[in-house]
Amino acid sequence: MNELLAAYRYLSNNFGQIQASKRCGCCNCMEVFPPEEIVGWLGLTMDNMNDPSAVEQQTAMCPYCGAEAVLADKSGLPINAVFLQRMNEAWFQRTLIRKPK
Ligand SMILES: [Zn+2]
Repeated sequence: MNELLAAYRYLSNNFGQIQASKRCGCCNCMEVFPPEEIVGWLGLTMDNMNDPSAVEQQTAMCPYCGAEAVLADKSGLPINAVFLQRMNEAWFQRTLIRKPK
């Protein structure tokens, strides 16, 4: 599988992976930052907030731009400007595959 396609699934429901990572990067604004900087998570509601698996399934929001586009090094993918730029072009500019809302 194309690594850009493979990487896309790590951009959501990535709480557990990010907690285990040392370095994260945003595919929208291309900032690189440690996981501790992430303060915004999506996915918990009043109904599932006591469910440990729901906590693990949260999606990180970038601390710089707020996008749900955070990739963590635990995914095995390179967290650097070149790779983030490639992800950005593939997913956020040319909309290779449009993300379902
Ligand atoms: Zn960002």
